[in-house]
Amino acid sequence: MTLFTLLFALFLLLDASLRFWLARRQVAHVMHHRDAVPAIFADQISLRSHQRAADYTVARVRMGLIERIVDAGVLVGLTLLGGLQAIDFGLMRWIDNDFIRQLLLLASVGVIMMLIGLPFSLWRQFRLEARFGFNRMTLPLFFSDLAKNIVLSTLLGLPLAAAVLWLMTEAGTLWWLWAWLLWVAFNLVMLVAFPLWIAPLFNRFTQLEDETLAGRIRNLATRCGFPLDGLFVMDGSRRSAHGNAYFTGFGKARRIVFFDTLLSRLNHDQIEAVLAHELGHFHHRHILKRIVVSFTLSLGFFALLGWLSTQLWFYASLGVAPMLNGSHHAMALVLFCLVVPVFTFPFAFITNMGSRRDEFQADAYAASQSNADHLIAALVRLYDDNAATLTPDPLHSAFYDSHPPAAVRIARLRLAGGAQPA
Ligand SMILES: [Zn+2]
Repeated sequence: MTLFTLLFALFLLLDASLRFWLARRQVAHVMHHRDAVPAIFADQISLRSHQRAADYTVARVRMGLIERIVDAGVLVGLTLLGGLQAIDFGLMRWIDNDFIRQLLLLASVGVIMMLIGLPFSLWRQFRLEARFGFNRMTLPLFFSDLAKNIVLSTLLGLPLAAAVLWLMTEAGTLWWLWAWLLWVAFNLVMLVAFPLWIAPLFNRFTQLEDETLAGRIRNLATRCGFPLDGLFVMDGSRRSAHGNAYFTGFGKARRIVFFDTLLSRLNHDQIEAVLAHELGHFHHRHILKRIVVSFTLSLGFFALLGWLSTQLWFYASLGVAPMLNGSHHAMALVLFCLVVPVFTFPFAFITNMGSRRDEFQADAYAASQSNADHLIAALVRLYDDNAATLTPDPLHSAFYDSHPPAAVRIARLRLAGGAQPA
């Protein structure tokens, strides 16, 4: 056993204990507050609704924990217990071409991960979501989505993986820099390709037909200096009763998308306020900042991968016999992608902290450009509809939530709203 094996095992244990501890806190906190609606929501949310949200939250936390335990077991099986090594030996017996063998190693790991996730997705959609009345999906739709996802990841993922493997072999010691540039280019293309060609494979997008609402939204967009190219409604109700709105894409592909489930639940004032919040993200350039941060971080990760892939101990510590003769590249990629998240989870609260600060900024912007009270009404409606808990454990929330807890968020908006004429 090497030092890195020990470190990996230690972090795996830390990751598991941290998640387990946070889950216990969350369940305890939510159950403790289950019998009374918090005072600031008391006149808008019924006790029944509040208890449904508590039960939904607890059920999701428990399911997430079980999934995590299975994932950790698979991770140990693939690495320390020699799973990856066995797959690689198996492929070696059948395939002479080194490049194809490596590509198949990547594909096999992808398939294994998908197969392990599948029962959980099925359970989540058809048991958990269904139990709380959120599932609108049929089994045929679920499997047609799955088939599309497999085809898409093969068409997009395999060429990308092949290109990275080729760079690792041919581009010299700075291959990781080229691979990073390729990664950046791929992601930029996807930002445009996703709304235009990929999302429409899964959902129908139609122009927003309600002219009064469209007019209001255009006014708001002009007021906020947002160049609006398209205003779409997406048939989210085909899959789920959860509602949402987002804007996406760059340049010509820039569009605002409403889930039909959101439009059907909010009035025009509330929809305008929600959109003003989204435009707040645009105004403060949050999405651009997030992209820049993610590209910078990924440069660090590629550099780290470049170095690790040449270290014998990296393979040996993780249950793989190192073969530094040029045929270990796929193994380096797989090990890196499997192992790195174990080391990064304890830092998840840093990214989420940034994200919650962005949410406050977007809320403040919405209060200034639209109306704080309308946004509060919309949020309360959405928390209620989505059975989002109003009483999360503060530490659990700090680690997992990209959005601030409901009570904190609304208290801030009330302050902003108080300054406005009603
Ligand atoms: Zn937001």
